Amino acid sequence: MSNEPVNPGDVAPEGAPGTGQNVCKICGGTGDVDGDSCENCGGSGIVIEGIGGA
Ligand SMILES: [Zn+2]
Repeated sequence: MSNEPVNPGDVAPEGAPGTGQNVCKICGGTGDVDGDSCENCGGSGIVIEGIGGA
């Protein structure tokens, strides 16, 4: 398993402390933008974001 963020929209690897999954704001969780796979989330519709404020 890679220990680096997979998609541009991810701020950290999945499961990293202080982070959580969130719906991708670019595609709205569909993983699809104008018929193409969303580049922000890699088509998953989910991104990893920091939680708890920064
Ligand atoms: Zn997306």
